[in-house]
Amino acid sequence: MNKPTILVVEDDSSVRSLITTTLKAHGDKFLTAANGEMAVMMASSHNPDIMLLDLGLPDIDGVEVIRRIREWSNLPIIVLSARSEDSDKIEALDQGADDYLTKPFSGQVLLSRIDNLLRSRTLLRLSLIH
Ligand code: CA
Repeated sequence: MNKPTILVVEDDSSVRSLITTTLKAHGDKFLTAANGEMAVMMASSHNPDIMLLDLGLPDIDGVEVIRRIREWSNLPIIVLSARSEDSDKIEALDQGADDYLTKPFSGQVLLSRIDNLLRSRTLLRLSLIH
C-alpha cells in the first residue's frame, strides 16, 4: 500500500515540528498548514489522505475548518486539541471529525490513531465494493 499523505494543521511551530518529526521517522509523507484558511485551501488543492487538525487556530476556528471541508469532502480528520473541555471535542465530532487526540499526546499514539482511521476507511471502501 502506498504511504498516505498527511496534512498537518497546527499554528504552534514546536507542536508542528514534533508531529512532523514523528511522521518523518515513520516514513510518512506530509504537508503542513499554520492556519485555517490555508488548511481548507490545501485540503482541496493537494487531496491529502488524512488531516490532523488543531482546533485553536489564529484565523478561523478548527471547527469551522471541519464545517467547510465537510461541504464537499469526507477526508478523514483527527482533531488535536489542547482544550480539555469535552464540549469542544463534541462540537468537532458533531461537525464531522472522525477522532480526536488531547495534547500532549505521544508520537506512538498519534501514529496508531492514523493507522486505525485509514484502515477503517479502507475496510469501509472494500465493504461498499462487495
Ligand atoms: Ca493552536
